[in-house]
Amino acid sequence: MNSKAAQDTRSEAQVAARLSHIRIVLINTTHPGNIGATARAMKVMGLTNLHLVSPQGFPCAEATAMASGADDLLQRATLHDSLDSALEGCSLVLGTSARMRSLPMPQMDLRAAASSAMHEHEGQDIAILFGQERAGLTNDEIYRCHQLVHIDTNPEYGSLNLSQAVQVMAYELRMAVIGEAGINIEPSDWVPVDAGQMELFFTHLEQMLLDIRFLNPEQPKRLMARLRRLFNRARPDQNEMNILRGILAASQRAAKGDGG
Ligand code: SAH
Repeated sequence: MNSKAAQDTRSEAQVAARLSHIRIVLINTTHPGNIGATARAMKVMGLTNLHLVSPQGFPCAEATAMASGADDLLQRATLHDSLDSALEGCSLVLGTSARMRSLPMPQMDLRAAASSAMHEHEGQDIAILFGQERAGLTNDEIYRCHQLVHIDTNPEYGSLNLSQAVQVMAYELRMAVIGEAGINIEPSDWVPVDAGQMELFFTHLEQMLLDIRFLNPEQPKRLMARLRRLFNRARPDQNEMNILRGILAASQRAAKGDGG
């Protein structure tokens, strides 16, 4: 190997190490060919972690054919039967969407999202969710996200093929890593809790709101969805989460009349 090639390999290893924290999560994919094309789209950009939630008809020959040499990613892909399991350990969850939703969520332009994911969340595991080909992400899936990311397109024809959406996202993540060459950003000492802890918190919060009769189970409206959006925006760390859980437990005790 000449020295230029050795240098390229070394810098590629650095890029790959940074990108190794990104999980590409495909949910309920119906066309296995899209899973193969996604593996290819990832590998050319140096991404390796493919997670599949309840894919239809996978593994299959069509996926392997479309992967065209990226079948190692298919073989190593992690299969999940729930989104919870795919998000385990992730402290940032980004959802990709072709359109605006009825409940507005914090929405970021693709480039800004890729850059903030790579710089502000250095070393933390990040999940990027891609919805089913026809329907996209469901509302429940969207409520699990901290932010939605939209790839700017022709407003009259804005829905990309699933694997092409992954391609554009993967390219921007790679550019965000390469663009930082020589820039040393101090890693923050703020480490948000992971998605599993946020779910436990939301379950506890809902129960507390029922206990204090703020949440009416007959007419829940969109209270929990709005509270999810609020707390996902705040992205509490472990200390903050301990305080919040403590407040919930104390409120429940007070509601039962043994608040002490
Ligand atoms: N009718 C669906 C389209 C689904 S396309 C919808 O409106 O959401 C399948 C997946 O590709 C989407 O769930 C999303 O993950 C991704 N995708 C397609 N077009 C996109 C775009 N313009 N921006 C971001 N993601 C997009």
